[in-house]
Amino acid sequence: MKKRVAVIGAGPSGLAQLRAFQSAKAKGADIPEVVCFEKQSNWGGLWNYTWRTGLDEHGEPVHCSMYRYLWSNGPKEGLEFADYSFEEHFGKQIASYPPRAVLFDYIEGRVKKAGVRDWIRFSTTIRMVKYNEDKGTFTVTAHDLKNDRMYDEEFDNVVVASGHFSVPNVPEYPGFDKFNGRVLHAHDFRDAREFTGKDLLLLGSSYSAEDVGSQCWKYGAKSVTVAYRNAPMGFKWPENWKEVPKLERVDETTAYFADGTSKKVDAIILCTGYKHHFPFLPDDLRLKTANRLATADLYKGVAWVKNPKLFYLGMQDQWFTFNMFDAQAWWVRDAIMGRIAIPTDKAVLEKDVADRVAHEDAGQDAHDAIHYQGDYVKELIAETDYPAFDVDGACEAFFEWKDHKKIDIMGFRNNAYKSVITGTMAPVHHTPWKDALEDSMESYLKN
Ligand SMILES: Cc1cc2nc3c(=O)[nH]c(=O)nc-3n(C[C@H](O)[C@H](O)[C@H](O)COP(=O)(O)OP(=O)(O)OC[C@H]3O[C@@H](n4cnc5c(N)ncnc54)[C@H](O)[C@@H]3O)c2cc1C
Repeated sequence: MKKRVAVIGAGPSGLAQLRAFQSAKAKGADIPEVVCFEKQSNWGGLWNYTWRTGLDEHGEPVHCSMYRYLWSNGPKEGLEFADYSFEEHFGKQIASYPPRAVLFDYIEGRVKKAGVRDWIRFSTTIRMVKYNEDKGTFTVTAHDLKNDRMYDEEFDNVVVASGHFSVPNVPEYPGFDKFNGRVLHAHDFRDAREFTGKDLLLLGSSYSAEDVGSQCWKYGAKSVTVAYRNAPMGFKWPENWKEVPKLERVDETTAYFADGTSKKVDAIILCTGYKHHFPFLPDDLRLKTANRLATADLYKGVAWVKNPKLFYLGMQDQWFTFNMFDAQAWWVRDAIMGRIAIPTDKAVLEKDVADRVAHEDAGQDAHDAIHYQGDYVKELIAETDYPAFDVDGACEAFFEWKDHKKIDIMGFRNNAYKSVITGTMAPVHHTPWKDALEDSMESYLKN
């Protein structure tokens, strides 16, 4: 009997897993039967945009946290697939901060070429995974949403690739129930034009606050006020953008901050992060971790310490994304296929996790964090046949990106970097980001 592997989710991580197995098959290996379950009707994960918020057409929570006009918030040179360059996909080198539709097309291009679409059961959500101690297998309960049919299947391994930027962390502040305007989480933010001419309050000081605020500014918000809990983001913001300390309360129209100041606002957007949320996993299999580079309980960042037949992809906080998911997926493939041996002594697995946590904690700043994750990517790649690439070069692109943000937060996307896969320099985009209101793929790719 062939081994059976269940992959939960067909976002960039799950698709990396399918591509990893397919590439082994293309080299003549006898691979397990791989079944990927995806609750949405298409692949791409967060990059599969929908206008919907709340529940989808089947009554399932909408996965998408992305919005119209989203451009990559880091340089594409940091995420490029080592086995499928941007030049291979687009037939030319393209500018460094592609909009969502362009990156979706790129993600899709690789897996279309690999021919793995029929490994995926779309519109099928996983309701439960149970480990059968006696047989050493997993029973996976799937819900075929189109036919409204639930069924069980047995697998030897399960790979959880369901993402962790979809279930919002929603705090409550005094007065929210009395506020006259809209209060929403960034997960439900879809179109900045809704806030043209409005005074906005954003809570948070990470990527969401920075990018959702920037979108709203670009599309004509009257003002953007960002309340931070610990420290401000500290960029050189435009004159109608202000950072203020912690929100204390709101009334019908006005927000009051910890420094005694207040601001009349029309809407409040909670950029307060996401939860690792796995409602389909029982206690003995469920990852509980902070959003950090060294996750809890995952050997090599992927194998569930308490039962290493179960794997998780992409559960780390992310500087590296697509190519890190690849590094993980190739490693997981080889562990499943017996090419890599996972130690049987639980203490060894736990020590690996503890060492990673300590190593991350020893870092001083973002520079160290980028190196830390770059080294992790290198470590995994060295153990598989994933094409080696210049990870240090990708780190350099991240450092330049951070410097460019410090210089001009509304202009950093006008810079270009060199591909670490093909060595080609990206062109500068034809229109500065702040003026590029039409951001379709066609418009982005024109010379
Ligand atoms: C607003 C926002 C902007 C971002 N911008 C960037 C960026 O510019 N550049 C970058 O590199 N990264 C960005 N990211 C990071 C993003 O996490 C990764 O790019 C990538 O999407 C993660 O891939 P994933 O496959 O791990 O998870 P996801 O993309 O979240 O995909 C998970 C998949 O699992 C499916 N799924 C979930 N639960 C189930 C279930 N029970 N059964 C079946 N299927 C299920 C989902 O439907 C989804 O398709 C951004 C994230 C957010 C939220």
